[in-house]
Amino acid sequence: MNRIFPYPDREHSRVLLEEDAVYFKIPENDRDMVFDLAWNAGVDAARELIAQKEGKLDFFRILEEYGLKLKTEDIDNVAGNIRFYSEIFPRAKEVKLYLKSVKLWAKQTGVGMRDGQQLILAHEFFHYLEHAKLGFTSKKYQVYMLKIGKFELGKTGIPSLSEIGANAFAIECLPYLDLEINREPEEDETEYLEEKKEEIDFKRHELWKGAEP
Ligand SMILES: [Zn+2]
Repeated sequence: MNRIFPYPDREHSRVLLEEDAVYFKIPENDRDMVFDLAWNAGVDAARELIAQKEGKLDFFRILEEYGLKLKTEDIDNVAGNIRFYSEIFPRAKEVKLYLKSVKLWAKQTGVGMRDGQQLILAHEFFHYLEHAKLGFTSKKYQVYMLKIGKFELGKTGIPSLSEIGANAFAIECLPYLDLEINREPEEDETEYLEEKKEEIDFKRHELWKGAEP
């Protein structure tokens, strides 16, 4: 497995849930279960795809096979203090990569541009699967919309669950991706990679929420 890991892992994905605007509406006893529900949705979908593809994943190809068009825009897509790397438009079957944003991230995390795109496309592909066959992870657990006195009104999903599922999906796919960072390092690289890892661990939390613009 790779040593460089520029991606929100399980622990950091948990923060996404904790920072979700509706987190406080999830009963405390349900919180672990809700997180696992989303995480496992990603893991299960990845395992199915890995089996289907016999352990070799190239998301540039997979997108093509599923009839998804890859579009790129050479911009750094920043809105407020969030940097967007990519977006998926499942109905239009389109994935858009914001190249300048991806480049900044790739540079910051020490992965190559192609590796960066693969990792991001893996994440986005999960969102496509949610749309096309799995159902939206964000709707797998619902909370009330409004509380008036002791009455709870309406039901709404939890947006961060989809992101958690997509992260789990991408991470589960990671060892099977055709990536430069998956190669075994030369012996004399070990120290360099260790240093790099600390730098990355420190920064990766910022990833999907966007690093400071
Ligand atoms: Zn996402």
